[in-house]
Amino acid sequence: MNRKIIVAANWKMNGDTQLINDMSAALNQLTYKNKQVIVCPAAPYLSQAVSAFSHPDIAVGAQTINDRESGAYTGEISALMLNDLNVQYTILGHSERRTHFGESSALVADKVAEALDKNLTVILCVGETLAQREQGETEAYLTSQLQAVLDKVGIKAFEQMIVAYEPLWAIGTGVSASAAVAQETHEFIRGYLASYDETIANRISILYGGSVNAGNCQELFSQTDIDGALIGGASLKVEEFKNICLAE
Ligand code: PEP
Repeated sequence: MNRKIIVAANWKMNGDTQLINDMSAALNQLTYKNKQVIVCPAAPYLSQAVSAFSHPDIAVGAQTINDRESGAYTGEISALMLNDLNVQYTILGHSERRTHFGESSALVADKVAEALDKNLTVILCVGETLAQREQGETEAYLTSQLQAVLDKVGIKAFEQMIVAYEPLWAIGTGVSASAAVAQETHEFIRGYLASYDETIANRISILYGGSVNAGNCQELFSQTDIDGALIGGASLKVEEFKNICLAE
C-alpha cells in the first residue's frame, strides 16, 4: 500500500505572527513529493495560518475542539468554527490534553464524533507512559484508547482519520523511540484496526510522534507502517521543519 507521507506540525502554545510568516514563506515555495503537510498553530492564529499557507499540499489544523456544537462553554472552540475558517484537520486526544486537562478516552471519543460530524479529518493521538511500556502494558493501553473511539464512531469512521502514535516518554524529551520500536508498535495498531476492517487498516495513515527531527525522520519514514510524523519542538524551527518536509 502506497500511503502518502504526512508531516504534521503541532505548535502547542507557541508561535506567533512572525512564525506563521516565516514558516509559510519557507514552506510555500517547496515541491512536495507524495507528501501532505499539516500545520496546527494555536487557535488565535488559525485564520491567519489558513491565509498564509497557500500551497496546495499544506493544510491547517487545530489542536483540539470542544465536543459540543456551540453554547456557553467559555474559552472553547467548536468544530463549526473550524468549518467557518476553512480549517480541515484537528488533533484530538493529545497526551497533553489528556494529562493537563483531564481528557478521558470517553471525552476524546465524543470529540472525535463531533469533529467527524462536521467533516473534519481527525488526527487521533494514542500513546503509553514509560511505566506502562516497562510493565508490558503498551498494547493493552493503546487498545483501550483506540477501543473507546471504535465503540463511539465505529471502524468506518477511521476512513476520515489519521492515527498518531505518540509514546509519552518520547514527547519533548529529545529521545525518540527507535525506528524498530516505533515500527513494531505501528504494526500492532494497524493490526488491531485490521481485526475490524483490513482495507481501512491498510489505507489509514499512522504517524509517529515523539522527538522527531531532521536527523531521525528519514529512518522513521522508511518503516513499513510509519506514514509520517506529528512534530512538536522541531516544527517551531523553520529550517529544521523544512528539512523534515523534504525528507524522502
Ligand atoms: C507532540 O507533542 O506532539 C510531539 C511529538 O512533541 P515533540 O516533537 O516535541 O516530541
